[in-house]
Order: sequence, then structure tokens, then C-alpha cells
Amino acid sequence: MTLKFNPANSKLAKLYKNRRTKRLLAMVTPSGKVLQNVLKVYSFDLPAGHSCPSANLCKSRVDIIDGKRKIVDGSNTVFRCYAASSEVRFPAIYNNRKLNFDALRAVVSLGKEGIARVINHDLPSDAGIVRIHTSGDFFTRDYFRAWLIVARQNPHITFYAYTKQLKFWIDDMDSIPENFRLTASRGGTQDDLIDLHNLPEARVVYSESEAVELGLEIDDDDSHACLQDGSTSFGLLIHGTQPKGSEAGKALQLLKSAK
Ligand code: SF4
Repeated sequence: MTLKFNPANSKLAKLYKNRRTKRLLAMVTPSGKVLQNVLKVYSFDLPAGHSCPSANLCKSRVDIIDGKRKIVDGSNTVFRCYAASSEVRFPAIYNNRKLNFDALRAVVSLGKEGIARVINHDLPSDAGIVRIHTSGDFFTRDYFRAWLIVARQNPHITFYAYTKQLKFWIDDMDSIPENFRLTASRGGTQDDLIDLHNLPEARVVYSESEAVELGLEIDDDDSHACLQDGSTSFGLLIHGTQPKGSEAGKALQLLKSAK
């Protein structure tokens, strides 16, 4: 089975324009000429919720119920996962993520080196930036380590990810390659490790004023995560579809009416 990497969605496409991330997509010719936007931004995605063992406040997934795709929120869901909302709306997105998940689960017995070989085989040759998971998370330790291997084997590519699988990160903290950038995603079952290890984090906020109160900049083009230097925390404005009557739903309505 072939893994499917996706071209940048509308948010990631902003990385092509950001002055600081744009340079990661340029190529220098043997004569020293800099060619802009030769390399591309891709994401690699897995099914929301199903591949996120440490999701908690955000946890939602899509199940097939009576032959239809339906969102199922977790028992502690406070803000619904945006990625799950996309899967319910767009069958191609759901199928793409499921295909990747099925393909990876079929090779978990190969261990981290084997999984890395499978990922490497389908990694686009023109990738300059890869966001690992606009949806999903590192569902096993070997899978996490496979991506570390892939990053070491492709030092010209910047890989970045948000994760709630913080134990994996902390246990391998000393062997994370420079081109593999991680941001802790608050709202998981391992949140205590964010404070304990002073990890850079992303928090979902309900308004710009909440971000200001928390002393966080809002990231609207993924550049904070892509360029993560190990100490940059930031806010992400609530988006997607939210459960009716929830605090997140009310906040989203307010944001929409303010536009
Ligand atoms: S960890 Fe991310 S992808 Fe998984 S359910 Fe939470 S927000 Fe969605």
C-alpha cells in the first residue's frame, strides 16, 4: 500500500508566503543562484482520534454508523477536533487518512527501521517542509522513532508536528534531530509533562484577548510550529465546528460575528 502525502491545505499554504519559512523552500543552484519556491509543503495525516492515544479535551473521531460517517466526541471533549470535522464533511479526506493508518498498522511489526523505510519510500522528492499530522498523532513509540529516522535521513527537509504523546518526546529528547520540530499540544492526558519539562506548547484559545491574557501570540500560518526553536509557545484560535451549546461553540459564534 502506498502512503499518501497531501499538498498544503489553505493554512499550510501560508508557509509559502511567510518570509521566514519561505527560505526553507528555496534551492541554491551549483552556481549559487537562489531559486524560490522550488520545494513544496506537504502534510501526512492519520484519522483524528483513532490515532491519538493521549487526546483528551479535543478528542473526537469519525465512526461509520448506519453506513454514514458520524462524529463521536470523547467523554471529556471541551473543544471538538477540527480534523474530525473535516473527515465527516469530505469522504476523500476520511479515506486518505484511513488508507495511511491501515498501511502503517500493517507494517508495525517491522519496527522503527521498517516503518521508516515505508515512509521514506513515499516521501515526495520535492518536499521542503513536511507537517507530520494535520490530523492524528504518533500512535506508537516505534512510529514516533521511525519519523526521527526519516528526519535524520533527509536533513534538507524541515519536519514538524504538534503532539500530545509527550512521553515519547521526553524519552528521546537528546536524540531529536535539528530538522524535527515539536510543539506540545495542550489538552491531552499527559499535559502535566508540559509544565514539568517546560515544553513549548500550543493552546486553543477562544478569543484574541484570551491569548493576550496568557501572553501568547496567535499563530495563523503554522510558522510558529514550523520554526519551533524549542521555546516558543503560542495560541491557536478555536475553529472548525463545535458541539451546539458548548463554551467552544459560543466562542466560535462570537468570533464569526466579529468578522
Ligand atoms: S490529538 Fe489532534 S488530531 Fe487527535 S483528536 Fe486531538 S486535535 Fe484531533
